Amino acid sequence: MSSRSPRKRLQAEATCPSCLEYFIDPMILDCGHNLCFRCISHIWRNPQVMARCPQCTAMVHRQNFKANLQLANMVEIARALGKQLKVERDGGKCCKKHQEALKLFCKDDKIPICLVCDRSKQHIKHHVVPVEEVDQEYQIWNCLETLREERDKILAYKTLMEKESQDLLDIGNALERCRNWKLENPVVVAPELKWCIWDICDITPYLKNVIEQFKDHLKSGFRLQKENLHFDPLTSGPWVVLSADCKTVTEGDQYRALSNNPESIYIPSFSPGRGHRADHRTQQTFNAVLYT
Ligand SMILES: [Zn+2]
Ligand SMILES: [Zn+2]
Ligand SMILES: [Zn+2]
Ligand SMILES: [Zn+2]
Repeated sequence: MSSRSPRKRLQAEATCPSCLEYFIDPMILDCGHNLCFRCISHIWRNPQVMARCPQCTAMVHRQNFKANLQLANMVEIARALGKQLKVERDGGKCCKKHQEALKLFCKDDKIPICLVCDRSKQHIKHHVVPVEEVDQEYQIWNCLETLREERDKILAYKTLMEKESQDLLDIGNALERCRNWKLENPVVVAPELKWCIWDICDITPYLKNVIEQFKDHLKSGFRLQKENLHFDPLTSGPWVVLSADCKTVTEGDQYRALSNNPESIYIPSFSPGRGHRADHRTQQTFNAVLYT
C-alpha cells in the first residue's frame, strides 16, 4: 500500500501524465490510461496513425478514445477538495462576502480579497497582488484580524458580565433593604373586640347548618303542596278540560257552555274563528283546594 496520504494519491489520480495538470475532458485509451482531450490532439495529429501511450508505451489507436465521464467527475471533486484544504491551511480565512479563498491582497485597502472581490467596483482600480507576494503584510493582517475577532468576543463577554454583576448588585441591595426594614409593632386590639370576633367565628358554622336545614325544609314543603293540589271542577272554564283526578288542566278544542258560577275560568283565544271574548271572568282562575 502506498505511503502517500489519500489526498496526495487522489491528486495523482486526477493528474494527466502528459501535461501534469488536473485532467480537462479526460479520454480513456485502449490500454486503460487517460489523457486530456487537448493532450491527445497535441500528440496524435493524424487520427489514422497508431501511437504509444505516454504512460505505458502500449500502441493505441486514436479512433478508440472515449470520454471518461466518471474520471471527469472525480477530478472536479479533487479540485474542490484541494481548494478547501488550501483555505483551511491559510487559517480558515475566506471572503465573508463570497465564501471564496482570499488569494489576492489589495495594497490600497491593505486587506486580502477573493477573486470575485477583485472584479468588484470597490477594488477594480486598486493595486491588487497575489497574497503570496505580500506574505509579511498578509501575516500582519491575519494577526490583526485574529486579534479583532478575539476583541469582539471579549467585549461581548464583558457586556454579559456587566449585566450579570448589575443583577447581583440589585439583588444585594434588595436584601440589604429587607435586613434594615423594621417591622412595626402590631396594633393592640381591644379585648372586647377580640371576644366578639371569636364569637362570630364560633357561631358561623352553626348558622350555616341552620340555613341548610331551612332550605331543605322549604323544598320538601313545596313538593308536598304540588302533590296534594286539587282543582275544583265547578270553577272550570269554557275552553278548559280538567283531568279525571282534578290535578291537571289542558286547553280544550271545543267551546263548552259556562256554568253560572262567577268563579269559572275563561281562557281567551286569539286564533281566527274563535274570536276574542273579554269579560270580567278572563282573569278568573280555578279554585285550587289543597288537601294536606
Ligand atoms: Zn493533459
Ligand atoms: Zn497506457
Ligand atoms: Zn470576496
Ligand atoms: Zn481594494
